[in-house]
Amino acid sequence: MYVNENEQREIKRLKHERRRTVLLTLLITVLTILVGGVVARAQAAQNYNRAYHNLQSAVKSSADMASLSADDVVAGEKLIVSSDSVATTKHHQKSGARVTDTALNLLKSIRTDAEAELKESDSTVSQWSVRSILNGWLDAQALQNKAAQFNARSRQLAVYTDAVSDSHQRKLLSDARSALNSTILSVETLAQNTTLSSDTRSKLAQESLVARRVSSSSSVSTVEAARKELDDLVNSVNDEISRNNQDILDIEAAVRTVKTTADSSGSYVNSAVKIIHAGGLSEVWGLSAMRGACAITAEQQRSWMAAYCESTPTQVYINSTLGAETTKDSYFADAMRHEVAHHLIHRRCGTTEPASIGDSANAESVASSYAVLYLGANAATLNRATDSRYYMNQASDDAAARIHAGQCS
Ligand SMILES: [Zn+2]
Repeated sequence: MYVNENEQREIKRLKHERRRTVLLTLLITVLTILVGGVVARAQAAQNYNRAYHNLQSAVKSSADMASLSADDVVAGEKLIVSSDSVATTKHHQKSGARVTDTALNLLKSIRTDAEAELKESDSTVSQWSVRSILNGWLDAQALQNKAAQFNARSRQLAVYTDAVSDSHQRKLLSDARSALNSTILSVETLAQNTTLSSDTRSKLAQESLVARRVSSSSSVSTVEAARKELDDLVNSVNDEISRNNQDILDIEAAVRTVKTTADSSGSYVNSAVKIIHAGGLSEVWGLSAMRGACAITAEQQRSWMAAYCESTPTQVYINSTLGAETTKDSYFADAMRHEVAHHLIHRRCGTTEPASIGDSANAESVASSYAVLYLGANAATLNRATDSRYYMNQASDDAAARIHAGQCS
């Protein structure tokens, strides 16, 4: 059979062309796969690097919170952290799980895991490399998985860092409030202290009211500043009280050094006046001078040897109508120690009759006990008083000691 040469050539050409098309298609397919793999890997590498840095900064920003101890967060609090963010953690596989451990412990464990993961991972992955051409899609998948893992870990860490930070803030606020409230209580107690001037007391009362309002503030620094201010006030008032106490102790020592001695004429008047002066007071002759300042009956003006009046706290009134035999008795000098005792009890407690005297003693027996215990008076002499209210006993001695120790109520 005759075959046209031309036809034969045409068939050959067609066969050749078909082979070429198949080869070309194959080549394009292989190239497409290769290039696709390289591009995917480059994209995955970028994601990986971004996720790596996210995790790194999450680890860094969690450092302060992870360094806290259980004492630094709200005690015994079970923190509930958003379950969405933690659903993939190994602690909370179930969605919606509640955090039953403290967030602090979880933060520390997640952080340890994250650090280990960062350590065993490459710090940066190059986008374009020989590996990307050779492994392409395989590498891209692995990098993508790692990036997803890092991102999940970053989110967990951020959630717990926030939770711990919140708890820490609440702890700081609660501690600051407790401290402020305890200072407020001190201030309120001080404001009741009758030995303080009324100006000081009203300042204390006013400052404690202001501080009560501030204690509800949600700012730790505001609450702390209020406490510091109040502490300074308490310290300055306590200093004032200490100075007053030291003053009183000095006065007592000075009164004790004055001897109860008669002058050449047998009179104790000089000794009595020296005692009054050592007590930081001045003498006023004549009990009638007391009228208008303190109540005194005509009978008392005749019978009392001397008197102390709270309204005129720098004076001791002496009966100027006493006979010579009265001033020639050492009782006259010790009676002035009794009056000085009234004054010092007044200075210590803001009243000559503080509640700490109790029911078994009274202001007179306690003043005499105070004079004997701290002002060098003779107990036997003072007990010669004709009025039984002046008789000392254990109860009056104990009350005088309480007052001397600063206990007024
Ligand atoms: Zn008296």
